[in-house]
Amino acid sequence: MPRRLFPATPSKLASFADCPRRYRYAYLDRPTPARGPAWAHNSVGAAVHAALRSWWELPVPGRTTAAARQLLYSAWSPAGFRDAEQAGRWRARAAGWLTDYVAGLDPADEPVGAERQVAATTERLALSGRVDRIDSRGDELVVVDYKTGRSACTDDDARGSPALALYVLGVRRTLHRPCRRVELHHLPSGTVAAFEHTDRSLANHVRRAEDVAEDIGAATAALDAGEDADAAFPAVPGRQCGWCDFRPSCPTGQAAAPPRETWSFLPEEPAAGAQPPPAS
Ligand code: SF4
Repeated sequence: MPRRLFPATPSKLASFADCPRRYRYAYLDRPTPARGPAWAHNSVGAAVHAALRSWWELPVPGRTTAAARQLLYSAWSPAGFRDAEQAGRWRARAAGWLTDYVAGLDPADEPVGAERQVAATTERLALSGRVDRIDSRGDELVVVDYKTGRSACTDDDARGSPALALYVLGVRRTLHRPCRRVELHHLPSGTVAAFEHTDRSLANHVRRAEDVAEDIGAATAALDAGEDADAAFPAVPGRQCGWCDFRPSCPTGQAAAPPRETWSFLPEEPAAGAQPPPAS
């Protein structure tokens, strides 16, 4: 019998690699264990991403900086902010990033996709994911990922991102065009970090992803065979427990890191000793 492919998204694999218990909470336990409240930095990232997707859906003449600002306002959520004053200040700040960013874009340079779903298979994986933007440059397609986190991204970030590598495979398979370049567009700093994948670098990412999937399969089989859930999917406590969505349901995580205020990862108001969460 052919081996059944493991259905994987980059976030699913990353969740298990970071903490198997978090993976179990997110993807296996039903009803899903209680999650914590929304984070302000995620609200910022979600609004910027939604505004950019909608901006590219406008007719070309409508793709203006004013339209981008309006779209951001429409997509804005105050979830996670301390109060209305803080949310308003951040809305204005994010609108500034966004308008600066779109001012540098050619509205007529139609992307091949915006928040485009792509998929690919490997020997063991059925991969899928949603790419922020796919550009056509010359004969090739380019994977563009928007970032709104605290720090500017580096070329090493672009090289090492499992998600971007898997998107390259998905773009190739879904759109039947060459693709090897990945870019991280960090809106707060206006910088772009990039990497051009080779067959070897992609193979390394696939191998690591398949190893994680293998571990997920083994843990799931152990759980199905009656092993204790906490043994099959052990907690990996660490500083990430400070921003883990499942902290309210996880005594181990609560003991590992102090609770953070939901706006504590905004760049201007870091909590004492806070480490940056994964950039959105
Ligand atoms: S709080 Fe920490 S240990 Fe608990 S699930 Fe989240 S990351 Fe894992």
